[in-house]
Amino acid sequence: MGERRRTLRFAPSPNGRLHLGHAYSALRNLDLAKQSDGDLLLRMEDIDTARCTPQHEAGIIEDLGWLGINWQGTVRRQSEHFDDYAEALERLRALDLVYPAFLTRAQIRQAVAEAEQGGSAWPRDPDGAPLYPGNERTFPDDRIAELIASDRPFAWRLDIEKACARAGADIVWTEEGRGPAGQTGTIAADPAAWGDVILARKDTPTSYHLSVVVDDALQGITDIVRGHDLFHATSVHRLLQILLDLPEPRYRHHALLVDRDGRKLSKSDGDTAIAALRESGASAHEVIRMCETGARI
Ligand code: GLU
Repeated sequence: MGERRRTLRFAPSPNGRLHLGHAYSALRNLDLAKQSDGDLLLRMEDIDTARCTPQHEAGIIEDLGWLGINWQGTVRRQSEHFDDYAEALERLRALDLVYPAFLTRAQIRQAVAEAEQGGSAWPRDPDGAPLYPGNERTFPDDRIAELIASDRPFAWRLDIEKACARAGADIVWTEEGRGPAGQTGTIAADPAAWGDVILARKDTPTSYHLSVVVDDALQGITDIVRGHDLFHATSVHRLLQILLDLPEPRYRHHALLVDRDGRKLSKSDGDTAIAALRESGASAHEVIRMCETGARI
């Protein structure tokens, strides 16, 4: 039996112009799609409706078109699918794996600072953020109901310990690329390293982690090609895929483009925006060459 046709996606957040780093990731996706006679889809990760705008989306589409990066089908916009994510959250709630967390960012900072006064460091997630110090997961139902009714803002957090216990011990993924430390092959996921991650907020019915796994499944994505910055997030994604009974994609993480000082390119580096390069007279071919030669793999 032949292998299932590969389906890939490029999934930018339309909160700024496309820069060289994004173009590099899009090109890696396109290459694999072409090599394997597969499909490349385009998804706009625009759940942050305050920062993501139709103008940025139009700019990204213009830049991709100029670079000759074509995709199949219509663009999936996450902001048009909040119901899908709310349904997934509801399933996790029904499994009693999520709880509302009420500490504000300032309260989290304060709780962590207090805990660290004793001299030992509070645990941090792979991105360096402190694990959630609140203990609402232990509150009785009537106290939680009271807090929800009090109109205070809150975040739905995954009870990572319970979630890991439900998913079972050996969560792994198949890495066809390499992680930041050269990891490849079968990778042991470590979702607990992230603590009780946020899956939604009172006013935004999803988070990056939740919408990405729901969409990858709904769009039939077989292969995820993305940067090293999301390598460790894969642990959370695999956990959610297991809890929500979603198919397991293959992963291929790639190095990030860096500037001459070895720093990751970011949207604030205006001069690496594709539009700025185009306006300064570079051809699409030259920009693609910049992506290819600038990458430290
Ligand atoms: N939207 C994410 C970004 O722009 C990419 C998400 C993913 O590839 O899983 O960094």
